[in-house]
Amino acid sequence: MSFLYRQEIKSLQDGTQNTFVIGVIISSANVRTFDATRTKFHKGERSVWAFTLRDSDEDFINVTVWGSTEFVKKLSSTFTIGSVVEVISAKIAKRQPHDKDERFVPSTSSPYSLIVNEGAAVIQCHDAPTRQQYVSLLTRPVKSVTFAKSLKAILDNIEALCDRFVDLLVVVTFVIDKLKEDIPWLILRRKGHINICPKKYFNIKIRTLAQLTFYALTADTVTTVMTIQQVTEKLQKKALAEDERLQFATIVKASVIEINLDGPLKTVVSIKCALCKRIVADVQDSCMNLSCPSGNGMRAPSNTVKFNVKVNLKDDTGYLIGCRLIGDVAERVLGCTVDEFQAMTVEERNELKWMYLLEKYNICLHILGPTPAFPRALYNILSIQHCANEKPETETTNEYTTTTDFQD
Ligand SMILES: [Zn+2]
Repeated sequence: MSFLYRQEIKSLQDGTQNTFVIGVIISSANVRTFDATRTKFHKGERSVWAFTLRDSDEDFINVTVWGSTEFVKKLSSTFTIGSVVEVISAKIAKRQPHDKDERFVPSTSSPYSLIVNEGAAVIQCHDAPTRQQYVSLLTRPVKSVTFAKSLKAILDNIEALCDRFVDLLVVVTFVIDKLKEDIPWLILRRKGHINICPKKYFNIKIRTLAQLTFYALTADTVTTVMTIQQVTEKLQKKALAEDERLQFATIVKASVIEINLDGPLKTVVSIKCALCKRIVADVQDSCMNLSCPSGNGMRAPSNTVKFNVKVNLKDDTGYLIGCRLIGDVAERVLGCTVDEFQAMTVEERNELKWMYLLEKYNICLHILGPTPAFPRALYNILSIQHCANEKPETETTNEYTTTTDFQD
């Protein structure tokens, strides 16, 4: 057996053989699984897992593990953030700043990354007296906090900072379930580091922050008023780079001309697998996803049922067709839970529908512009409030220019 000696991350070089690196895992991505029958491996399913390893205040490196799904999942479930591990005989690869994969991994101090291939390299627990020195690295910021920005400074300069990286030193006061479920945490983890310590510290790309901000936003904080024509013009005018998506929030004063509450239940509620989020036909069914424990029979079906209501709006300037009223927002707006709704008779649903029809409302919308992959704009309803007892409409053109765009 070759002699193994520990190498510091900062000492790694191209061509180093018998690498032996010890460190603490400071971030970890989800395992990705793909069909490899058409690749050079011709071996059916393969998986990949990436994590970041740190061995000093200044030095950290990304590690990518490739192999059979069984091998990769076993490692990723054994070692998590905070585990101190020995990475033995990994291949050293020079990072290519313009490589598309670089967009999905955290920034690191090392110009290299470590590749662990099943059968050629090993990851094991570092169980030695020196373990504690690595554990303590988990709670130390990955860089100086001298230039960390305040949230206020970022929000005041959101346009100028768009697409730039920023450092934050913040206290996380709460995490909205919706936020965890939808998008930002993933995006955040793939590029940034979060140190969990008396203070929390991380580095994220600004447009991710814009999304976080958006989800923290409630309908009450949206004051911009636009007509449907202005919304349409804004969506058409804005030329964005290929990987960007226009997002903004606004109130439209409009009538509800259709809300499909009296349609077949299937069209009003959506049933999804609680694990992989794929649509399932019936609440007793499992999903059809073979890489999901529910789909491959390892676990009993576990599904969530949520409102997925379609609403069409009209004002004096045009129509917005297919706005979505979904999840918790729908329960709040309609004043009933999805279970209570499913227990209603068709007549009761019809009655509920007519409470909304043809009246004029202030409808707060979260709008996502079209992209090459999703050519249709999405209109998510955040709230519906009656216009009655309201002061006459005021000039709204100025407010239109202050609309904040959230892009991703
Ligand atoms: Zn599933």
